[in-house]
Amino acid sequence: MKQLGIAVLGATGSIGVNTLDVLARHPEAWRVEALSGFSRIDKLYEQCLQHRPRHVVTGSEASAEDLSRRLAEAGLDCTVTYGEEALCRIAALPAVDAVMAAIVGAAGLPSALAAARAGKRLLLANKESLVVAGRLFMNAVREGGATLLPVDSEHNAIFQSLPHDYTGDLDRSGINKIILTASGGPFRTLPADKLSAVTVEEACRHPNWSMGRKISVDSATLMNKGLEVIEAHWLFNAPPARIDVLVHPQSVIHSMVQYRDGSVIAQLGSPDMRTPIANALAWPSRIDAGVADLDFTRLSGLTFEAPDMTRFPCLSLAFAALESGGDASAVLNAANEIAVAAFLERRIRFTDIPVLVEDALSRIDLSASASLAALLDKDAETRRYTSTRIA
Ligand code: NAD
Ligand code: MG
Repeated sequence: MKQLGIAVLGATGSIGVNTLDVLARHPEAWRVEALSGFSRIDKLYEQCLQHRPRHVVTGSEASAEDLSRRLAEAGLDCTVTYGEEALCRIAALPAVDAVMAAIVGAAGLPSALAAARAGKRLLLANKESLVVAGRLFMNAVREGGATLLPVDSEHNAIFQSLPHDYTGDLDRSGINKIILTASGGPFRTLPADKLSAVTVEEACRHPNWSMGRKISVDSATLMNKGLEVIEAHWLFNAPPARIDVLVHPQSVIHSMVQYRDGSVIAQLGSPDMRTPIANALAWPSRIDAGVADLDFTRLSGLTFEAPDMTRFPCLSLAFAALESGGDASAVLNAANEIAVAAFLERRIRFTDIPVLVEDALSRIDLSASASLAALLDKDAETRRYTSTRIA
């Protein structure tokens, strides 16, 4: 088997660490060609010692110099650069066959786009890329000849539940609906009047998954599910009316496809991101992911309920943004990133997040940008606007 080169962007994060765990189980199949990390340089240093990449990208000149010196002292032959352009460059290197896009937020868009344009096998964890620039992104995938493989567990589950020759036409494949499951987050049963007082620690304590802080807060507000509805729209060419959200607190069913003949095909498993990561890495083959078999006799039961969009307005804001089109999803995302960061810094309450997002959606021009540059300007404008509402 030919060894494939991979770049792991966002290697120091939750998805990055899980990806390197799976890769380390298959040294004959994969060579870690490049790694990136933003600020946890000690962690990145350790990862470099273990995986020996030829290229590393950090978030700043100072951290790149520091890491470069330490790696040289350790006898490693590798180039260390920093910043967005460097990320785009390592995503498009000839020796890189596959790119794991696992940077958090819209910051991950340029490098994921670069991988798409370069025709890579693109393992997409960074859902914000599709939320901000879905149409542009999917065009880049098509034009670049990239193979786009969803890593988000729900989308990977849908990918596995669709016909293998699915071409983006729900009707032609006899599909009625895509059903995205949601755990409901840590506040699923919390009364509305208690939500404004929840703490950062409570919001980041997800019942089933261990994830980065931003996506943990998104899961608590249900904005994560809203972003995933938008992500599913672009990945599977599904109109919003044919994407259902279903709360399933045990997170055993990771999502489903409902067919015209009454069949429902679902993907099940333990809530462990190494499963969708391994699936995307090896597709169409299957490899060991280090995940224990699901023991059905130990499951206490699978339950389902409708999401509560009154207590969790972020989900309905995301559906509305997708319906209205234009730049609405990009504005929703930018305002949400600023609001979540402010919540994590304890500058606003949990319940201020949807208020700030709705405010941005009502105040920023949502008409469609004609270029990526214009879209990024809109993103920046929204960030500035929402920041002024907080300060
Ligand atoms: P995380 O916060 O744990 O890690 C984020 C990574 O991005 C880190 O390596 C960090 O150094 C890097 N990074 C942060 N800001 C950056 C910037 N401005 N420029 C360059 N790099 C930067 O996040 P995560 O939980 O691993 O999530 C990563 C992405 O995967 C997100 O888009 C998230 O929505 C998606 N995702 C995560 C999970 C999960 O289980 N964690 C599941 C599904 C999807
Ligand atoms: Mg998900």
